Amino acid sequence: MSTSRPKYAYFGGDIVPFEEANVSILNHTFNYGTGVFGGIRGYWNEDEEQMFVFRPQDHFIRFLDSARLLSFEVDETPEHLIEVLMELLRTEAWRENVYIRPLAYISSERIGVRLHGLDYAVAIFSLPFGQYVSNEEGTAVTFSSWRRIDDTMIPARGKITGAYINSAFIKTDAERAGYDEAIVLNQDGHLAEGSAENVFVVRKGVVYTPPVTANILEGITRRTLMHLMREELKLEVVERDIDRSEVYLADEVFFCGTGVQIAAVTSVDRRPIADGKMGPIVQDLRDLYFKVVTGRVDKYRHWNQPVYEQVPTKSS
Ligand code: PMP
Repeated sequence: MSTSRPKYAYFGGDIVPFEEANVSILNHTFNYGTGVFGGIRGYWNEDEEQMFVFRPQDHFIRFLDSARLLSFEVDETPEHLIEVLMELLRTEAWRENVYIRPLAYISSERIGVRLHGLDYAVAIFSLPFGQYVSNEEGTAVTFSSWRRIDDTMIPARGKITGAYINSAFIKTDAERAGYDEAIVLNQDGHLAEGSAENVFVVRKGVVYTPPVTANILEGITRRTLMHLMREELKLEVVERDIDRSEVYLADEVFFCGTGVQIAAVTSVDRRPIADGKMGPIVQDLRDLYFKVVTGRVDKYRHWNQPVYEQVPTKSS
């Protein structure tokens, strides 16, 4: 995780110095968690001296869908948000990998829990970002004693600020127990996902992942990997409910997400997955994924949004 601070933000309809992008402690979202957010990565390609933002259109569509789930009246389009984001990134003039955080929130300063009839705003900031889990090639996980929030409580398919308390419980308890991450089960007892990642399980050459109805976030990395595994690695990928005990018997298990990218799970509850080392499918997929996100695969260049027309100099 990064400790660098952004220098600018998109806030109140403009790019402003980051110090000016503030809300009051009376802010509705600050009080009740009534916000939605996104998480996007920009990859610096040193050979081309270019930054490529990965699938911004898809991220902003999900972002606006999450806002729609909460009845937010946000007068925005994915196209306009991409324009704003490009301007923000050019102003920052980053020459390294970054993480981008769009936020939609209730800007009204009001006491009273509800979603409708209030004022809504969008903000975006970006900051340098490295790895999300410390050991992407050998992640030790446990099954969380928490359950994933159900669609009848807070929809997990929306990236809803307050819902991340569920993720925070999962992550903190896993780390305090000495694990890197946890897999969380849904109310039916089937696999949902990690605290901030989707999960895949390989058994006898077939790749399985929970369906979008299993109380998961509909991950853009998940969608990307399903496509790459089918089209490029010629693997069978099946969306279906997965039992906990299948994980113990799996040949490979991995997490994916914008932040985590692809992390090989090599043990679960201290049981090694297969021989306890990163497996061949995860290995191939990681190699391909990093080429794709950095704009090195022509066929998938449409997923890479270039930021700079003019390359920022090293000192800027
Ligand atoms: N599940 C959860 C709960 C998440 O927070 C994330 C990260 N956004 C993901 C899955 C992965 O989604 P994506 O690939 O779109 O980043």
